[in-house]
Amino acid sequence: MGTYVVSGSASGMGRAAAERLCTAGHVVIGVDIKDADVVADLSIRTGRREAVDAILHRCGGVLDGAVLAAGLGPIAGRDKMIAEVNYFGVTDLLIGLRQAFARSGRAKIVVVASNSTTVTPLVPRRAVRALLTGDGERALRAVRVFGKRSAPMIYAASKIALSRWVRRHAVTPAWAGAGIRLNAIAPGAVMTPLLAEQLANPDEAKAIGAFPVPIGDFGTAAHLADWMLFMLSDAADFLCGSIIFVDGGSDAYFRADSWPARLPAMMLPHYAARFLGYRRFMRDRR
Ligand code: NAD
Repeated sequence: MGTYVVSGSASGMGRAAAERLCTAGHVVIGVDIKDADVVADLSIRTGRREAVDAILHRCGGVLDGAVLAAGLGPIAGRDKMIAEVNYFGVTDLLIGLRQAFARSGRAKIVVVASNSTTVTPLVPRRAVRALLTGDGERALRAVRVFGKRSAPMIYAASKIALSRWVRRHAVTPAWAGAGIRLNAIAPGAVMTPLLAEQLANPDEAKAIGAFPVPIGDFGTAAHLADWMLFMLSDAADFLCGSIIFVDGGSDAYFRADSWPARLPAMMLPHYAARFLGYRRFMRDRR
């Protein structure tokens, strides 16, 4: 049996994943702003640092995996909190806990992204780039032009940046080379308190009701938790740097031909450089 961290363990998908892990006999260290083993505010740097210290203390420096689900929905007026919790609240935990994951030798991590990454139009590239360079304030400035619609933009930007962070790091010697399997799940609309809060606003409810979900219904926290448990299991040993869309078909509905994407000519120099760098990559692994 293993020891797992679950952020966002007090509600929704994080809670469902934590319950399943406990039922399977694992030790779960829940992290949340309320009702958790480690109560911490992931929207501020000191809160994230305290969370890392408390988790390391509780697990004795070794972790078998994590589900990082703490996050906020695209609610107006919370732009800064969205960027802080959804992006830095995950990446700072990953950075702070990496060595504990490496010590287990075969840790598996599920980061909760979103299908907003591919179905939200016009997300400013500058916001995504700013988050990836650690500049939350610049990311917020980049979405300000959207006025009242800035929350969905910073939300999608936070999840795009997070997905890229996962893909960039998952394949490096420090992660894949240390036996860590780092992947993300991209849910569509899932019936949790987060979605319920959005549905409580009549305009939002109308927009969400009109949004295409080809299977015709919202997902459930229980269903998404089943996928997360699968991604933490031995069956996922070969899964590395993947973003798994579990969204009732919305992404495929809008963008059937966008993925898998063929490699365009302009990418060939990058591809060649990566190819040639692989020997060094394998050397660094050892
Ligand atoms: P939820 O609101 O039920 O759970 C989110 C949890 O995060 C809550 O327990 C909350 O207390 C915690 N949290 C929020 N701010 C925090 C902070 N500052 N510090 C510590 N914990 C904090 O929502 P959910 O739907 O289960 O969301 C889980 C994840 O899934 C989120 O990252 C969300 O962005 C993502 N997501 C949700 C949906 C959806 O439709 N529900 C769709 C795509 C992605």
